[in-house]
Amino acid sequence: MKPPSPTRVLRQHVQTDHLLGLDALPVGDALAPAPAVDQPAGHAPVSPPVSEGSRSPGTSLSGQDGQSGDTGMPVAPLWPTTDRQTKTLLLETMEAQEVRSCTLCGLCEGRTQTVFGEGDPDAKLMFIGEGPGQNEDRLGRPFVGRAGDMLNKQIAAMGLTREEIYIANVVKCRPPNNRAPTPVEAQTCWGYLRRQIQAIQPQVIVTLGGPATKLLLNTTKGITAVRGTWHYFDQLVPDGPAIPVMPTYHPAYLLRAYTPENRKKVWSDLQAALRFLGVASN
Ligand code: URA
Repeated sequence: MKPPSPTRVLRQHVQTDHLLGLDALPVGDALAPAPAVDQPAGHAPVSPPVSEGSRSPGTSLSGQDGQSGDTGMPVAPLWPTTDRQTKTLLLETMEAQEVRSCTLCGLCEGRTQTVFGEGDPDAKLMFIGEGPGQNEDRLGRPFVGRAGDMLNKQIAAMGLTREEIYIANVVKCRPPNNRAPTPVEAQTCWGYLRRQIQAIQPQVIVTLGGPATKLLLNTTKGITAVRGTWHYFDQLVPDGPAIPVMPTYHPAYLLRAYTPENRKKVWSDLQAALRFLGVASN
């Protein structure tokens, strides 16, 4: 199948924005790079003290280790109202007409199939991982290997099911030997993830590990430095919603470093997201 023309991709982006009630032009698209990951300031992690009601760059809402108290709760994003049917249509069309036939980067050469993402198109909580591994590449679904088993346990511990949330990755094709996606691959695939976020309209995003966190928060800081504190992703569209982001360790890292300390940290991060969802309204 021929890759979609840039004009068609751009048209679909504009249609997505229009359907979602976002009249401003999209910030990026599948052919344009994501905000450069090694530039610190573009959409640096920002998080307002709630009481002040304004955002100040470089600050974080919570204390270390996800110990956000009542005063450390982020502000819920303001999304236009979009029905589930429209969200489903946007996601299904993007997957069928663009992602499955994508040849924007070299990762397409090694894939068995693309792994778009799955879950509730209306999910309040979105997890974003790195990219498909061997099992995901074989089955076409995210997080179905060992890391997936770990994530499933975490989701269950949160009192949720995979059907109630949405799971996506930074890249939709398996990087060779399960390596992390390069910043260039992440940027090339960014237009798809951006539009997934825009279609789903989550109340909160949990980034799993370094690549997803660096991409969304436009930071070069390591995951250990940023996990457990609230950040915002506010570069979806100009003047668009600011989505609270809670970075945490990747389940595969947790499997490798399965210490009580790391487990406690991840659970604390997930609980912070849960606490926020308990007070957030869509
Ligand atoms: N499986 C995925 O889908 N993503 C990851 O980041 C790891 C495993």
